[in-house]
Amino acid sequence: MRAFVKDDVCIGCGMCIDIEPSVFKMKENGKAEAYAPGTDETDDNVAEAIESCPVDAIEEA
Ligand code: SF4
Repeated sequence: MRAFVKDDVCIGCGMCIDIEPSVFKMKENGKAEAYAPGTDETDDNVAEAIESCPVDAIEEA
């Protein structure tokens, strides 16, 4: 699964990075970025991050 973070919506809480750091990282502007596609092993966590984001900033790309 490939995810996309809406930069203008993300509040930089870091939750998605805590859930799956192999897919999400923090950018220098304090917003998260999905820098890598999910794999079979990480797709459950990516889905959890999408559901857990407090401002619904993550979408399936
Ligand atoms: S969980 Fe949502 S608001 Fe928090 S850093 Fe990730 S994309 Fe941004």
